[in-house]
Amino acid sequence: MNQSAKRLLALAVYILLVFLPVIVFFLFPMPAGRSFWRDFSVILGFVGLSLAGLQFLPTARIRFLSEVFEMDGIYRAHHLLSVLSVLLVFLHPVILVINNPNTLLLLNPLTAPWRAQAGMIGLAALLLIAVTSVLRKDLRLDYNAWHGLHDLLAMIIAVFALIHLLKVDYYMSAPAMRIAWLLTVLIWVGATVYVRVLKPLDIQRHPYIVKQLVTELPDTWTLVLAPQGHAGMRFAAGQVAWLNVNSSPFTLHRNPFSFSGSAHREGELRFSIKDAGDFTAAIGKLQGGETVYVDGPYGNFSLADPRMQKGLVLLAGGIGIAPMLSILHTLADEKDRRPIHLFYGNPDDTKIAYFKELDNLQKKLNLKITHVLETPAEHLKSETGFITRSLLERELPANRAELFYFICGPLVMIDAMEAILRAMQVPARQVVSEKYEMA
Ligand SMILES: Cc1cc2nc3c(=O)[nH]c(=O)nc-3n(C[C@H](O)[C@H](O)[C@H](O)COP(=O)(O)OP(=O)(O)OC[C@H]3O[C@@H](n4cnc5c(N)ncnc54)[C@H](O)[C@@H]3O)c2cc1C
Repeated sequence: MNQSAKRLLALAVYILLVFLPVIVFFLFPMPAGRSFWRDFSVILGFVGLSLAGLQFLPTARIRFLSEVFEMDGIYRAHHLLSVLSVLLVFLHPVILVINNPNTLLLLNPLTAPWRAQAGMIGLAALLLIAVTSVLRKDLRLDYNAWHGLHDLLAMIIAVFALIHLLKVDYYMSAPAMRIAWLLTVLIWVGATVYVRVLKPLDIQRHPYIVKQLVTELPDTWTLVLAPQGHAGMRFAAGQVAWLNVNSSPFTLHRNPFSFSGSAHREGELRFSIKDAGDFTAAIGKLQGGETVYVDGPYGNFSLADPRMQKGLVLLAGGIGIAPMLSILHTLADEKDRRPIHLFYGNPDDTKIAYFKELDNLQKKLNLKITHVLETPAEHLKSETGFITRSLLERELPANRAELFYFICGPLVMIDAMEAILRAMQVPARQVVSEKYEMA
């Protein structure tokens, strides 16, 4: 099955699962006698809840999904669909109240029957998930604390929404509807067991140890890992893995990093890590020999993609050089001769990580490197400022709209580069961005 067919299949199954309760509602005998608006609000609630519950699937790092969809796209869809699910569930009581203002009495927490209380608790948890996710940075919520809260609230939503459905027991009294929700709940439980139990067990059986730690800059290190008691994992340049250092793979504490070594180097994994907070700062203190659990590889980037054969343009900012290193080392091992242009932006020449390594790669590949520094350097030929449209048009060949662009760096840089490439008429299908941020 090719990529497009797999993608269509995954989407079809997802849509079927989201609309399962609605399909059952229309196709099977249901209790009658309710007004149109009441039914409509219930349908919105069903779809919203089903959608909210299935949000777990896209972010569960299921290999099949990560191979056919771009990771950035998966997370964008997760954010959008989550907001949609909150909206649909929220509309459910709003329409009920507009349709029959007496329903408002059901919203008094002191007098409300259990069926309404459970619904309100589920809705409050859903709103709380949305607010803490959208405003995580403004609220200064630590990523791991937010992740733990997110999982706890998701569980509260699932439990109280199901109590609400069972206690109202109107359409749920129809056997087909019960079966549809039973199936939906089994999928929720199955995905939870897979992500929280089966996957960590597999990762625990394939540990790595820290073989070497190289300080590249005072705040940037190359972490070299060796597999312990197994052959190690195969990955492709441009893919990422989640690392869990010195703690159990069953905890939520794991952070994503791009592979930065050659995909052809057996028995060793390399990551380039820059200090950005607690986890990354601790990398610099590793002594060697520590146990690391690696969850990966993820991502569907492939250098064999026919779109990449005419040439690559790599646009890197700061530690965004990590996946570029993997791409360059992999192509050097393959003795690849396609033209490659690397534009590498940094604040000044003291912040250029991997300068010598890149210089050596230039000798092995058909590679041209342009250093772009905000503050010009005395002894290094470089461009001053940021990567701009005029710089790209000056440095790239006339067939620049046929080349393949890979962008990795701070979010502002990614946005700026994508806008420049659009203005340069580079088709969107020839541009891939790796965002180092997920929520
Ligand atoms: C797909 C991807 C690939 C990445 N590759 C690299 C790389 O090769 N090299 C590198 O130096 N950095 C990379 N990063 C960024 C790196 O994951 C974060 O800098 C690191 O997780 C920060 O953790 P911290 O505890 O040090 O800092 P914190 O202060 O906890 O976090 C700083 C910010 O990093 C993000 N972050 C923190 N923890 C996670 C997490 N578990 N999952 C997702 N985002 C998180 C959050 O936006 C947070 O606000 C990548 C990020 C992503 C999403």
